[in-house]
Amino acid sequence: MVAKSVELLQQKTAPGELALVHAFLNTWDMAGPRERFDSPERTQEWFVKRSLLPPAIAISKADFELVHKLRDGLRRVLSAASHEQSVDRKSVWDLNHLVETIPLVVHFDQQGKPGLIPPGSELKAALGCILAIVVVAALDGNWQRLKICRNPACQRAFFDSSKNRSAVWCTTQGCGNRLNARAYRARK
Ligand SMILES: [Zn+2]
Repeated sequence: MVAKSVELLQQKTAPGELALVHAFLNTWDMAGPRERFDSPERTQEWFVKRSLLPPAIAISKADFELVHKLRDGLRRVLSAASHEQSVDRKSVWDLNHLVETIPLVVHFDQQGKPGLIPPGSELKAALGCILAIVVVAALDGNWQRLKICRNPACQRAFFDSSKNRSAVWCTTQGCGNRLNARAYRARK
């Protein structure tokens, strides 16, 4: 708990709905228990807790793999972008091939505002919600502020709130090292 409160003080969470995508990206975390999506059951629990999936819908093995592929694909493109590199062709192809299977439709609400919504209520719809948030965040420039920490021993997704958008580490003081040391001591 101590480590968690330190983390919250130092890490900026992405604003609005992008916080959900931020959390999704950090379900793989070298600093903590590494893989949050270590079983279909735990993966389902994560989505249900965030109201992305009705509790009655179980996650199949194929769904489980899809979740991993989408998260890891998004992490790869963000990682390249945060290190000012082009994403390699295979990673882009794989990600595009994957997102082609996740439908999104344009929908107007009663105030006449258009948005992207995923049809259905199953896992692909939950992943569609994540993708819709990504697309909207890319339009307002916040997606470009989500980055992967340059420290190879960390690689956390973090939100770059610096004025010139030049942050490369998840925290300004020694990246996650201090946090990790505290978390380690707290666990001890
Ligand atoms: Zn870091």
